[in-house]
Amino acid sequence: MDANVLEIDLGIIKKNVEILRSLSNKKFFAVVKANAYGLGAVEISKFIEDNVDMFCVANINEAIELRKSGIKKDILILGYIHPKNYKYLNEYNIIVNIYDFEIAKEMNKLGKTIRGHIKIETGHNRLGFKPTEDNFDIIRQIDSLENINIEGMFSHLSSADEADREYTYLQYDKFQKSVDGLSDINANWIKHISNDAGLLAYDVKYDGFRSGISLYGMYPSQYMKEKYNVGIENSFRLISSISFIKELEKGEGVSYNHTFIAEKKMKIATVSIGYADGYFRIVSNKGFVLINGKKAKILGRVTMDQLMVDISDIEAKLHDEVVLIGKSGEEYISPDLIAKWANTISYEIMTSISNRVYRVYKNKEKN
Ligand SMILES: *Cc1c(COP(=O)(O)O)cnc(C)c1O
Repeated sequence: MDANVLEIDLGIIKKNVEILRSLSNKKFFAVVKANAYGLGAVEISKFIEDNVDMFCVANINEAIELRKSGIKKDILILGYIHPKNYKYLNEYNIIVNIYDFEIAKEMNKLGKTIRGHIKIETGHNRLGFKPTEDNFDIIRQIDSLENINIEGMFSHLSSADEADREYTYLQYDKFQKSVDGLSDINANWIKHISNDAGLLAYDVKYDGFRSGISLYGMYPSQYMKEKYNVGIENSFRLISSISFIKELEKGEGVSYNHTFIAEKKMKIATVSIGYADGYFRIVSNKGFVLINGKKAKILGRVTMDQLMVDISDIEAKLHDEVVLIGKSGEEYISPDLIAKWANTISYEIMTSISNRVYRVYKNKEKN
């Protein structure tokens, strides 16, 4: 046990997988990049391996970590790989996304079979081949390289979490154009374009969908949460402890630069978590935490390792649990609420929770 804990409920994650799966009979690709959005890629991947068809990660280290932990299912890398690491693709049987001819030729030179999915550019403008005849020719050349084994093609939606559907349909059209343009070689390829937003708001076309944020219980956007609620549940809580309780006299300041000054006599608690744990400093004087089912406002600046809250009207004692994200009694702080305070999205809140926070897993029994 530790002062700061990220408590992850594997049972809820499993249930979320079941709910999301029930929305489409296509293949389920679990996106566990960035340490499963901070929640722990190894623990989660092992727990849901039997219920998913493939894992997606961002880089080679994440892929190797999964293989070393015993994951047997296919793993697709969505991002860039430095040439010095190409050799691990064959060694650990990892599938790579291929979005550039030069890179494909470099990989081919290695002399060992490398499995790939071709990345098509349909409008995200991150990685991928634009759907042009010239690029289709290049893709044919890549497919014929001796050591490159192309097994799939995919693309990524940039705006499917918005109400306006026009751009997403345009992306589908461009992807279909590529599917048609490569029909001479791609009959057996796995084709995929949908992310969580694509799964929730559109029919999943092609062979599978890549689910990330919703697998962990969040919706890709506030709009989606309101419009496409399917019953997935937040799977984690961020918890700390009260380290100290004291009285504050009228006129006393709190934390660096005294951005909060008591207007009356107050009781405050120091909480043993700060921005080095991933609790954003921008939440200073804005947010609240939950103590024994009650809201306690954050007073003054969030510091590196500690923050202070108002407990004037709360029954609280030393060592009591402090909930920063999740439920306490009837109250609930969602990752989206923290994201709103911090002017960001739940994805960044999750992936910012640092390694210093101890990860604890609940409901580990598979049934
Ligand atoms: C991160 C990512 C996903 C998952 O996105 P969510 O919004 O979490 O569903 C899917 N595909 C690609 C290419 C990604 O980079």
